[in-house]
Amino acid sequence: MKPASFRYVAASDVADAVALLTEHGDTAKLLAGGQSLVPMMNLRLSRPGVLIDLNRMPQRNTIAVEDGLLRVGLLVRQKEAEHSPIVLAQIPLLAEAIAEIGHAQIRSRGTLVGSCCHADPAAETPAVLLALDGSVRVQGPQGAREIAASDFFLGYFQTALAPDEVATDLLFPIPAQGTGSAFLEFARRHGDFALVAVAALVHLDAEGAVQGAALSLAGVGPSPLRATGAEQFLIGRRAEPAVLLEAARIAAQGIEPTDDVQASAAYRTQLAQTLVERALLIAASRAAREVA
Ligand SMILES: Cc1cc2nc3c(=O)[nH]c(=O)nc-3n(C[C@H](O)[C@H](O)[C@H](O)COP(=O)(O)OP(=O)(O)OC[C@H]3O[C@@H](n4cnc5c(N)ncnc54)[C@H](O)[C@@H]3O)c2cc1C
Repeated sequence: MKPASFRYVAASDVADAVALLTEHGDTAKLLAGGQSLVPMMNLRLSRPGVLIDLNRMPQRNTIAVEDGLLRVGLLVRQKEAEHSPIVLAQIPLLAEAIAEIGHAQIRSRGTLVGSCCHADPAAETPAVLLALDGSVRVQGPQGAREIAASDFFLGYFQTALAPDEVATDLLFPIPAQGTGSAFLEFARRHGDFALVAVAALVHLDAEGAVQGAALSLAGVGPSPLRATGAEQFLIGRRAEPAVLLEAARIAAQGIEPTDDVQASAAYRTQLAQTLVERALLIAASRAAREVA
């Protein structure tokens, strides 16, 4: 399969990419790792007239901690973040999630920012960004702005990015001390997109009661979603197996997946409950080790 013909132009920096987007309008597409866009072009599901390559920009592959946030620049490859000592130390949940993305070859090109802009409902990185109440920093002709993850993912492959904006960074708040986390998913084959994926964070106080919890699920709707009912239920309770099971039941009751060729809605709902329960058990035991 070959793509329809297009014009190629390399952006020298973010301002240049914004100017090129403004100039070429709807016909233009940004190219990051190309691991979603190029297959879509080859299948002719996407036919950009102009491809604006972001890969030549200097200094956009930074992973840094700034003001309690982990900042991931637009050219950080999934594989770089997966093995980054900063990510492993500050947000192991993110490294654990990235390890589930496709195959090593894909992760060596694909970017975290590109994954969020692509907004596949089963993708791992958006689920983690949402669980952590993170945000996306974007730049357009009017300047820079930050969009909370809860406002960024609008539906199947839809985001709040304007057509002339470039996403420059992902901002992940670093969890407080005493927080344990876990990322679990189930896919039909190794490397496939998840049928259901779960990101869980549990913050315990010194007495072992849940002080805070965050649960986000991917693959169960048009975009990742937070299981807020289950999160609220957990607050103030001890993280015991029966409590975590009840939280998982509440989370599963709160989703409305649809039947598709991969799985029925009932199967996805049951899978979500099982994965939430297991993820909470792991996150709670990791949190308990932190506070011990
Ligand atoms: C076989 C296979 C298996 C895969 N499995 C998984 C999986 O299990 N989980 C998963 O999450 N992903 C999976 N992927 C997708 C992979 O993670 C992609 O890398 C990712 O979705 C897109 O990142 P990218 O950098 O390759 O972006 P690209 O493909 O270059 O771009 C994707 C989209 O985002 C836009 N975009 C990119 N960067 C920016 C930016 N800075 N600002 C604004 N718009 C931008 C592009 O214009 C395009 O519309 C798989 C891919 C393949 C080929």
